[in-house]
Amino acid sequence: MEQLKKGRRLILFPLPFQGHINPMLELANILHLKGFSITIIQSNFNSLNPSCHPHFIFHSIDIGLAESGTSTKDPLLLLSRLNANSREPFQECLATLLSDVSKEPVGCLITDSVYDFAQSVAESLKLPRILLRTGSASSFAIYTAFPLLREKGYLPKQDSRLEEEVTGLSPLKVKDLPIINSDGPERFFNLIADLEIQTKTSDGLILNTFEDLEEHALATIRQVYPIPVFSLGPFHKCYPANCSLTSSSLLAQDQSCISWLNTQAPKSVIYVSFGSIAAIKETQFLEIAWGLANSKMPFLWVIRPGLVHGSDWLEALPSGFLETSTLNVKGHIVKWAPQKEVLAHQAVAVFWTHNGWNSTLESICEGVPMICMPCSSDQMMNARYVSDVWKVGLQLQHGVERVNIENTIRRLMVEKEGEEIKNRVLRLMQKANFCLKQGGSSYRSLDALIKHILSFK
Ligand code: UDP
Repeated sequence: MEQLKKGRRLILFPLPFQGHINPMLELANILHLKGFSITIIQSNFNSLNPSCHPHFIFHSIDIGLAESGTSTKDPLLLLSRLNANSREPFQECLATLLSDVSKEPVGCLITDSVYDFAQSVAESLKLPRILLRTGSASSFAIYTAFPLLREKGYLPKQDSRLEEEVTGLSPLKVKDLPIINSDGPERFFNLIADLEIQTKTSDGLILNTFEDLEEHALATIRQVYPIPVFSLGPFHKCYPANCSLTSSSLLAQDQSCISWLNTQAPKSVIYVSFGSIAAIKETQFLEIAWGLANSKMPFLWVIRPGLVHGSDWLEALPSGFLETSTLNVKGHIVKWAPQKEVLAHQAVAVFWTHNGWNSTLESICEGVPMICMPCSSDQMMNARYVSDVWKVGLQLQHGVERVNIENTIRRLMVEKEGEEIKNRVLRLMQKANFCLKQGGSSYRSLDALIKHILSFK
């Protein structure tokens, strides 16, 4: 499978969160299969086990953040600590790697786009740097409209305007604008302004998306940024499934999901997962539990430790909830699932998701319609695209309440509306497959990326 060696080493630096690690490792796999040697610099916060990736070389840097939890009340604060603590050890590690003449020459550095120091470090070492944006193209493109959205008073968001449609950006509502809440709005606006400068001065931008999915957003990005832009997603479909990166999981994947799914009827199961960071209130948790039970559909539910505020794991579930006599259906609960395998399983009918970008894309790639329950940042915008632009899912309207849940499941799994949604997501899945084939847009974009990397002196 491996193609001719390219004689270049690429150094990759992921942000240490699951939703950022997965696409970076997938990209590493793609580039490795194209003949590049891969070195990964990772911090000692949420780090991967190098022995699970023997084809990559790992270097670990100590950034002085010992806690391994990813839940935090203020994600921007955590991000700024990560940035502040990583700069020096990263620069030292990179300089050491560059001075090692016993290895192939370094072609370029590929970092997560949110590292605010990586551009200046790369420039100081005269190393080309390409950014990886792990979110959607649409949520990146909209940042360019932030100054105007502020001028028009849409941002910062005001409670009284949340349901208002944003003029010129239909069907987006004010509540969908991708903002990360912090102690004040300025911190986030500064981060975005800085990201824009960093992107403009970088040597290229890679996105995990495809033309047919986000054509307009990609066109906007190409117009605003004078750099090469490569949309070569969906990454995880760029290589054979037997290269699957199960081991880029920070939590152990419970394989019992698959044997349980094997016992279920085709297209019968609701898969429920809210990703690696989202947290919900106990009241919402109970509504979800009863909504699932009342739907009378079998479900596979990922309840990550830390998902429910103030609860370690399942304590908040009513006692006896999982007994068939209470549920009248089969339910299976795990702490963490092999999600891509689950979504590809023939028993899965629907994905109830928080609409993190990876989950959204993974669902589209398997032709699984979604129930959208976005929690924060770009998830609201992803969910709006799923429900109102691509029309491949339904939003949980009127809040997380058992009656709404039951109705939404019914609309998607039983009614004609659901049939149309399923047909649309299958067509989108076909487009995703097509773009990866020889001559397809992502295939060409990957070729262009390789040429670009080889053009660096
Ligand atoms: N994931 C997984 N098992 C789970 C839940 C999630 O492997 O039980 C993976 C999922 O396939 C995706 C990533 O974790 O690749 C979550 O990324 P996403 O952008 O969807 O959400 P985030 O965790 O960043 O909020």
